[in-house]
Amino acid sequence: MSGRILIIDAAATNRIVLRVKMLAAHFAVDACATAKEAKALISQTRPDLILINLCDASENRYDFCRQLRKSAETATVAIIAVGGADTATARFAALDAGADDILALPINDTLLLARIRSLLRVRSTREELALRESTSCALGFDEKAAPFAPAARVALLTDQTGDNLPLCRKLQAGLRQDIPQRAPASVLADTGAEQAPDLFVIDACGKEQGTLFGLVSDLRARVETRWAAQLIVVPKDAHEVAAMFLDLGADDVVPADCCEGELKLRARALIQRKLGQDKLRDTVRSGLQAAITDPLTGLYNRRYAEPHLARMAEQAVATRQPFAVMMIDIDYFKAVNDTYGHPAGDAVLCQLSTHLRANLRAIDLVARMGGEEFLIAMPGTTKTQARLAADRLRHLIDGSVLAHAEDGSPISVTISVGVAVSAPCATDNPAIGKICTSADKALFRAKSSGRNQVAMSKSAA
Ligand code: GH3
Ligand code: MG
Ligand code: MG
Repeated sequence: MSGRILIIDAAATNRIVLRVKMLAAHFAVDACATAKEAKALISQTRPDLILINLCDASENRYDFCRQLRKSAETATVAIIAVGGADTATARFAALDAGADDILALPINDTLLLARIRSLLRVRSTREELALRESTSCALGFDEKAAPFAPAARVALLTDQTGDNLPLCRKLQAGLRQDIPQRAPASVLADTGAEQAPDLFVIDACGKEQGTLFGLVSDLRARVETRWAAQLIVVPKDAHEVAAMFLDLGADDVVPADCCEGELKLRARALIQRKLGQDKLRDTVRSGLQAAITDPLTGLYNRRYAEPHLARMAEQAVATRQPFAVMMIDIDYFKAVNDTYGHPAGDAVLCQLSTHLRANLRAIDLVARMGGEEFLIAMPGTTKTQARLAADRLRHLIDGSVLAHAEDGSPISVTISVGVAVSAPCATDNPAIGKICTSADKALFRAKSSGRNQVAMSKSAA
């Protein structure tokens, strides 16, 4: 994994040692001694991760850490604090200043590298989602983020039994909520039934530590729990174990001697990140939805219909079944706008779409191709069935009131329909363009023979 790392340490020897380690792990490295130099390097090199010695006597590094977190330029850059005592208080102070983690000296190299890999992984996912979100925004699907309100589901997985476990107490006090406690072995069986937690806190201090490695990767692999954050509580000084959990996909590890404050900060950061990522995914999803949907009627648009038709044609060959395409155009629709106004015309389009959707099978595609033209694609449909369906729709619309004028008078329209059906048992992919052209031609005939009627394409495509 590549990434750019900035080392901030007043001691030249520390900088050299860390630089050598980072270069050996194939990271790009910059190093400097002061906050001022760091700021210049950050603008210039845009690091992905900062390693900062919090114990430099020359400057207040805690304040600098806070500044980095606040600045837009570095808000999402991962920060690992090095130095300081390996005590719960020292760790809390570093996390409180905005560091993602703190590693005491002498640094355990395995843990340092696992931690860096884990933080860089998160950063690239976060950046990728943010990029997709900005694309959605650029396409006009912006949805302003609601103010963050963490109503998170948290579960503690522990093989210890009994109420009032110290870890559970600390977690409940820190997060100020009830935390259900579950046996790790039961969790994979349970998760399908209810919504998975946002955060699993996994107690890896018991006898079953070995089986928890498998659990961590299983939770990551499963659809229901893939996005849940994982915080692993490891025995103090179990650096290799902690590194292993991180490399298997855990989001964070915390030593068992942690204070309530440290547990809270780590859990909250993970919850916030997880909920933020959920939100980004939803934005991307709704952006994609918007890209293939007609905003007025809620029907699929042409962009969706074209590849859908191509897939339907492939399926028709595979299943040796014919399919039908209908082109529908509203008769004299311009007169509706001219007589009743554009909003009334819009209301007609919406109501007509609802009728079409409600009177077809779920498997049929209904799309608005533009203006007052609709396409219906019906898999597994013979010519006779297509004719019946088209007549039924034409008759239904003819007898419906679709909107009302300002004076309350009913507005109705009629439709003309052109139908084309693929050749039964076609062995080659039927040319979708040809079928649509045939349906279009049939529609033209329906129009020229007086409108409010169905015309069938003469040739099977
Ligand atoms: P024909 O029977 O030959 O199809 O006549 P027509 O009036 O329906 O056809 P024409 O193509 O002349 O007019 C289509 C009209 O559809 C013109 C346009 O203003 C209207 N239209 C297209 N899109 C919309 C829309 O989103 N909302 C409304 N209200 N009208 C629309
Ligand atoms: Mg038209
Ligand atoms: Mg028309």
